[in-house]
Parts: sequence; structure tokens; C-alpha cells
Amino acid sequence: MEVQLLGTAAAAGWPNPWCRCASCTWMRVNGDVRGQTSALVDGRLLIDCGPEAPRAAERLGRSLVDVRHLLFTHAHPDHAGPAALMWRGWVPTEQPIDVAGPPAVLDECRRWVDPTAPVSWHELQVGDVIELGPYRVRALAAAHGGPAIGPALLYDVTGPDGARLLWATDTAALPERTLDAVTDAAYDAVFLEQTNGDDTDTDTDHLDLQSWPRQIAELRQRNAVTGTTQLVPVHLGHGNPPPPQLRTRMSAWGAHVPDEGELIVVGPQAEAKMRAPRRILVTGGARCGKSWWAESLVADQPEVLYVATARPRPDDVEWQQRVDAHRRQRPSTWRTVETQDVAKAVAGEPVVLLECATLWLAAALDEPDVDARLDELVATLSQHRGTVVVVTNEVGSGVVPPTESGRRFRDALGTLNARLARACDEVWLVTAGIPRRLA
Ligand SMILES: [Zn+2]
Ligand SMILES: [Zn+2]
Repeated sequence: MEVQLLGTAAAAGWPNPWCRCASCTWMRVNGDVRGQTSALVDGRLLIDCGPEAPRAAERLGRSLVDVRHLLFTHAHPDHAGPAALMWRGWVPTEQPIDVAGPPAVLDECRRWVDPTAPVSWHELQVGDVIELGPYRVRALAAAHGGPAIGPALLYDVTGPDGARLLWATDTAALPERTLDAVTDAAYDAVFLEQTNGDDTDTDTDHLDLQSWPRQIAELRQRNAVTGTTQLVPVHLGHGNPPPPQLRTRMSAWGAHVPDEGELIVVGPQAEAKMRAPRRILVTGGARCGKSWWAESLVADQPEVLYVATARPRPDDVEWQQRVDAHRRQRPSTWRTVETQDVAKAVAGEPVVLLECATLWLAAALDEPDVDARLDELVATLSQHRGTVVVVTNEVGSGVVPPTESGRRFRDALGTLNARLARACDEVWLVTAGIPRRLA
């Protein structure tokens, strides 16, 4: 299947026409103007048709002329622009068209269509399966909608070539019954909305940059997303950082942030993007966001082993509170071990987050054969066959520590960081909350 994205933005577009925020300004200055999300599949199946979709198609050198099946997710105005059906009535055509979707959308559309027009109406509910020409479409529950429009639907679409995609906009965290329904679907592509970006405390029925990877983790756990599934965020709003930064952020989860109007080839013929085992070092100063970024790098993974290398400090209440607060923020499916014996903890684990090399070193320096411990840590990392993210601190840029032990620690950490970096496939520096890949 070929999915032509006619738009990639949320209802207001990106930039929002009324907004002067940094994200909207970047979009304006760089001429990256995005419209309401909709997809033209093989030129024949149109998924959602908001008011902007017909012109977006024309600007991309496509059109709705060959569309035979119109599939609506819900009646919100950025997804349903029923006037397009009236314009179809102004053109002499005997070609029938299917119009499918939740009842509220069909009610809207019927008012714009002559009763004698060649339109087949298909009211869809959760669980319905329908053949639209060569496409097999199954309706799934969304966490989206309202009293006025009823519940929104998501779609599981299988094409004539056997390719299979999940179209998931609009929705908040996927309902349990939807997760059940997609178990073992092993989609070729998942188009999952990510509206709110870093506005994670907005109480909307949409996803954001925190909840999005967790949904992917849920889908991975159920084999709906596999190592070769193309992951495409759509329905992007201005809570997101500008696309270059958003690409960096979402690439951590194997996701591809599309350009406006991008054509995405879905199916086994698309190049497999298996993620190889990765060793990743994340460094940065105090409170720079390095822990956040390290956690983000594995946030799409269903099972993560978190290795805390700090020595327990039973008498330090403030320390304990900070540790507990951190732990509460991590997904409940993650396991935590507190240990300095990193080699043993990491062995055989598919995904590990180790925090942090600095505290591990502080403990190791007290031991008789420090060098052997250091060698062991580096060897553990270079030999590991899964994903390991190691957090460390960037020290040595400031004043020279006044004490001998301080200088020894600074030098030892600098040396260790350089050795870890050489053993890793990726090295990231986080400064002021912005991750940058160094190697
Ligand atoms: Zn929407
Ligand atoms: Zn909506």
C-alpha cells in the first residue's frame, strides 16, 4: 500500500494560525506549514477528509478523482468536511463511492448528498469488519469522541497486497479492548497520533511525547508492533518541538516523523528497519536532563531493567525521597535492581538502563583493584548483545577540585567516560534539556 499523507497536523494546523510560540515561529520562519491529518491510500481509499484534504491532494499532484472508498474516523471538523461529497455531486459520474464511519459522520454527510447519488453508506461500530473494494477494514475503539459525536473509531486496514496498517487518530491511551484486538497483528505500519508534544499535563483525549512511547511499548508487548513495523506519528500540534528536534526525540523509539505530504510505502516491500543491539552513553552536567533522555531512549520498550548503582544511604532522608520520586515516574513494568555488580545484573537482559557510571565509580574507587573493576565494566558493555543505556556525568569543565580525592575522582571519571564512549554505538550529550548526538 502507498499512503500519501495529505496532512500531518492536528485540528489547528502547525503552526497554529493564532500562535506566536517558539514552535509555531520556527515553522513559519522555515516555511514548514502543516495541515489537518488525512491519508490517501493508493489513490483509492481516503481516510478522513477534513476541509483541507481535497486541496492538499491537488497541491501534491494527486486528486480525489479515483477515490472509491471514504473512511471517516469521527465527526470532529478537522476529520470530516462533508461538503467535499456535495462537490462530487456537481460532476457527472456514475462511479459509486463507499462512505463508511461512525453514525454521527454519516448523518453529517447525508445532508450534503443527493439521495439518488451513487453512494453506499456503511455505519461502523467497534468490532465491525467491512470489505471496501480490495481493502479489509476492521473498526477499533478509540479513547476519543464526545456526547455530540459519539465515540471515534480507529482502523485496522489490510491492503490488496497483504500489507497491514493501523490508523490510530484521534485517541488518548488505547483502550484495553483495542490492545486485545490488535494482539499479534504484526503491523507493517502504525500511524499513531501524537498531538500534544511536551504539553504533557493537558487534559485532552490525545497522546503526547510521554504517553506515545508507552503506547508503542504496549503494542510491542502484544506483537502488534514488531522490529520491522514503520512507526509514524501524525496529528502533530504546536506543543511539539520543531521537526528537527522532534525527529531526534522520536527516532529513539524507531519512529519516523513524516514531512508534510510524505508518501509512505507500507508493506513487506518496505525496507526492514530492524533495530540492532545498541550500547548508548548519555552524558551531561547536573540536572541537565540526561536521566530524562536516557529513560526516553528506552521508553518504547515493554520491559526494561533499571540498574541503580548508588550505594544505599539509609540515613539520608532527602536522598531517599529523590530516589523514590524517580522510581514512581518510571513505568510500572520496569524492574529495578540496586547493585554495584553491573556485569551480573546486566547479563542476558535485553534492555538495560544503568544509572549511573558516576556513582558506580565513586563506590569502585574505594576498592583495592579499581582497574580490574573498570576493565570489567567496559568489557560488560562492549560484549552485551542487547540495548544498554549508561548515564554518566560530564565533569572537569569547571574549577579544579580543591581536594586531592576530588581531583582523583574527576580524572578517573573523565578517563572512564572516554573508555565507555569508545565501547558504545551512540554517545549523547544533554545540555539544558536538549539532547545532541556526539557519536
Ligand atoms: Zn483531530
Ligand atoms: Zn478529534
